[in-house]
Amino acid sequence: MVQGSPWPLTPFGIVEALRPREAKRNVMKAQLSTANPVDRTRLRALMLREERRFVEDHPKSKALFQRAQQSLLRGVPMNWMAKWAGGFPVFVAEARGAHFTDVDGREYVDLCLGDTGAMTGHAPEPALRALEEQARRGITFMLPTENAIWVGEELKRRFGLPYWQFCLTATDANRFSIRLARAVTGRNLVLVFNHCFHGTVDESFIALRDGVPGPRRGNLGPPVNPAITTRVIEFNDLDALERTLASRDVACVLMEPVMTNAGIVHPEPGYHEALRALAHKYETLLIIDETHTICAGPAGYTGGHGLKPDLFVLGKPMASGLPAAAYGFTEEVGNRVLERTEVDDCDTSGIGGTLSGNALSLALMRATLEHVLTPAAFAHMIPLSERFQQAVEDAIREFAMNWHVARLGCRAEYLFTDTPPHNGAEAAANMDFELSRFMHLYALNRNILLTPFHNMALMSPATTQADIDQHTHAFRDALKDLTT
Ligand code: PMP
Repeated sequence: MVQGSPWPLTPFGIVEALRPREAKRNVMKAQLSTANPVDRTRLRALMLREERRFVEDHPKSKALFQRAQQSLLRGVPMNWMAKWAGGFPVFVAEARGAHFTDVDGREYVDLCLGDTGAMTGHAPEPALRALEEQARRGITFMLPTENAIWVGEELKRRFGLPYWQFCLTATDANRFSIRLARAVTGRNLVLVFNHCFHGTVDESFIALRDGVPGPRRGNLGPPVNPAITTRVIEFNDLDALERTLASRDVACVLMEPVMTNAGIVHPEPGYHEALRALAHKYETLLIIDETHTICAGPAGYTGGHGLKPDLFVLGKPMASGLPAAAYGFTEEVGNRVLERTEVDDCDTSGIGGTLSGNALSLALMRATLEHVLTPAAFAHMIPLSERFQQAVEDAIREFAMNWHVARLGCRAEYLFTDTPPHNGAEAAANMDFELSRFMHLYALNRNILLTPFHNMALMSPATTQADIDQHTHAFRDALKDLTT
């Protein structure tokens, strides 16, 4: 380890993956959290009971998981699927609207909704129609279709930015936006917020530990120590922002307008206006990533609050779950990109893939924006989220837990503290892996899927009051079991 650094660095400045010993220590730390009055002995006994119940109720998922060990690393198609509470993931048979059925024939209320990828509800009719229609007419051409213009015009109308490009994932949209920001500013550094998440963007896989920046926990094989590429500060800290931007070497700030990946952390009043002014003052571009915060309304948080980003990112649900993402930018950024690039070099710019902007994704984006994620849909979804929030708050009060519920539009999340956090560090300090796993498994055993790896519930246009009430019932029973 380099002297004076809490981070494991090789002599070449390349960061090693966190050592198993350290990872184990972190888990123990989380398990010893005293952020709530839960009796840990009781919690562990209840967890054993729930784990046994889960295994008994899911024989077919268990058999598939065992079979999968022979061909899939850890028995899952993507490594993070191994982290679900219960010992193995539930294998899905089919899904429609706000519900899905597993291979054991159990039907669930889906409050995870593919962690926003299926915020549209599963397989909405307009998307299915567009999927079939476009697939029969061709899927990908390396040429544009008219739908691309329709979608560009609609995004311009909703979010106010004049120019748009399309790709397959929000991660890619963030990567490409960072490249554009570097190209037009001639600066290298990116600024992000502690405990942010913007997909697997190398520059954003950084965190503060004891105030020192380094690779975030779990960051596997980073190309360089992200402290070389990135500045990381706390959300809602304008002094730190000004100190960092003042060196005039930061190309862009990449941020969610409300943090959603460490619980929900809202900006303080006036924060966005001040941040916009500081970015302007130091000629740093502002990239707003609304991949999750599109839950705030049809024009996201940006449209709802009149924010003025230089670049803007949208992904996950915008094609009803089919891989699709978009990034938009101002006239000024567009012109500066054109000044610095030649058409001849577009194919080797490091931006875009063969399937980016394909006809199928664009047909589904159009169907989703035109018929699914409409103002009427949000008018249905947001009150449901308020109902969720109210019911969970009532139960928290009834059982005198020191927890609270935060909400943004149709997304709500309970946190194991009664003090709403102001930044990522405060939010992370109240994460409780053991308790969170218990709440997830308890819900799953009562046919409710919450979003891992925090305590988030999302509403879709197909979600009903009865779905929310089913969760309320289970949540109340969990608190009763934990406290009596
Ligand atoms: N931005 C935000 C705010 C996210 O939360 C995520 C993923 N959870 C991403 C970007 C990346 O999305 P994807 O994994 O679909 O690329």
